[in-house]
Amino acid sequence: MHALQQKIREEGIVLSEQVLKVDAFLNHQIDPQLMHAIGAEFARRFEGTGVTKIVTLEASGIAPAVMTGLIMGVPVIFARKHASLTLTEHLLVAEVYSFTKQHNSMVAISPRHLGADDHVLIIDDFLANGRAAQALISIIQQAGATLAGLGIVIEKSFQAGRAELDAQGYRVESLARVSSLASGRVTFLD
Ligand code: 5GP
Repeated sequence: MHALQQKIREEGIVLSEQVLKVDAFLNHQIDPQLMHAIGAEFARRFEGTGVTKIVTLEASGIAPAVMTGLIMGVPVIFARKHASLTLTEHLLVAEVYSFTKQHNSMVAISPRHLGADDHVLIIDDFLANGRAAQALISIIQQAGATLAGLGIVIEKSFQAGRAELDAQGYRVESLARVSSLASGRVTFLD
């Protein structure tokens, strides 16, 4: 997606060979027009696949997920990282190792919102080693729902997540595929 690549080139900050900072438009300040275009692109790519729900992880997945849900006309569920006082019922839970925070935490979705009739599209901001994606897939399986695929805003293709999801047979659509962050530069696959 050309507009996204251009935005990453202009406003992304390479923090290390492993980490790209995009808090100017995705992870802190949000560019609504770009998010809308991202939602439209995911909706186009997954058109006709029978998606009934979008699932993402709080907080940075919510903006692209909501735009996609708006355009596809389906609800969006964000997995919660901290059990809240209002989530008192039985929950679908998975453990996730956070790439950026470098610790394990639990993420949860209420089975009131996700069930065996659902065909789910996972949306997330980044794909690195795939821990977040695998945790969301586990929750979707616990719910008895099926997976249409994963829509990723920025994939770091040199980390393990994409290859693992491919090997598991899941459909992954990434809007920007980063092949390297070496020498402080962002290089794209295509
Ligand atoms: P994974 O679970 O695939 O290892 O990492 C994906 C999660 O870690 C994403 O939900 C995202 O929040 C965060 N993440 C991974 N790599 C980066 C990165 O380079 N920059 C930022 N800002 N977040 C990242």
